[in-house]
Amino acid sequence: MSGRLIVIGLGPGEAIYLTAQALEALACADWFYGYGPYVDRVVAVDDPRRVVSDNREEGARAREALTLAARGECVAMLSGGDPGVFAMASAVCEQIERGPGAWRELSLEIVPGVSAMLAAAAACGAPLGHDFAAISLSDNLKPWPLIERRLLACAGAGLVMAFYNPISKARPWQLGVALEKLREVLSPDTLVIFARAAGRADEQITTTTLDQARADQADMATLVIIGSEETRRVERPGQSSLIYTPRFAPGCDPEAAGSQG
Ligand code: SAH
Repeated sequence: MSGRLIVIGLGPGEAIYLTAQALEALACADWFYGYGPYVDRVVAVDDPRRVVSDNREEGARAREALTLAARGECVAMLSGGDPGVFAMASAVCEQIERGPGAWRELSLEIVPGVSAMLAAAAACGAPLGHDFAAISLSDNLKPWPLIERRLLACAGAGLVMAFYNPISKARPWQLGVALEKLREVLSPDTLVIFARAAGRADEQITTTTLDQARADQADMATLVIIGSEETRRVERPGQSSLIYTPRFAPGCDPEAAGSQG
């Protein structure tokens, strides 16, 4: 079967984040599927090869793209950031597993991209420099009690957390409740980063502490990072402060006197 489906990560926004692999894949596609704003980034609005859909129609979009690829076309499926992080790569795999056997014979390529948490982390230092967890706060595809359990487990394990999908018009309260739950178990001076439009021209990074953090500091284009006990801020004259998490757990500094390295 000659059909191809290429799931392409476009990175967080600016064209500079498109990898050479993504550009190569974009150049060979006959069709471009995806959520409108992502497709807009790389395909002209009047291009007849565009097939845009709402961001809630991921299963149907994946089935349509697979059906077209099975007819021998080269189909690009576009995702923001990395396609494997809360995005289309899993949606496509789900449909391949459930769908007709012919879909398993298709050539499937997944082109990684710079995920929002990586762009956000790079913009403020290295908050993800030690162990961390990426958690979607959307309760569209999982129940809220499960999200709460995971938040508390991560907090208890001392992990830094990167929140995707923190808030939206349809999900207005989830981030506020998450912050409340974390305030019960984490220190009030835990660092919290709101990274809006990371990797875009209008990028905005705000650093605060857990006791000061408010849900209305985030919107759909924001990635929220909750630091661990080790995450720290380093002030720099004339420059924004650096937020980072050391590579080592407490007591394991390889450069500390007496360390075995
Ligand atoms: N696959 C994407 C994530 C899709 S989920 C990735 O790897 O980045 C959508 C969520 O990602 C948004 O609600 C927001 O929390 C986050 N996000 C996507 N792009 C972002 C950006 N440029 N800056 C900050 N957060 C972003």
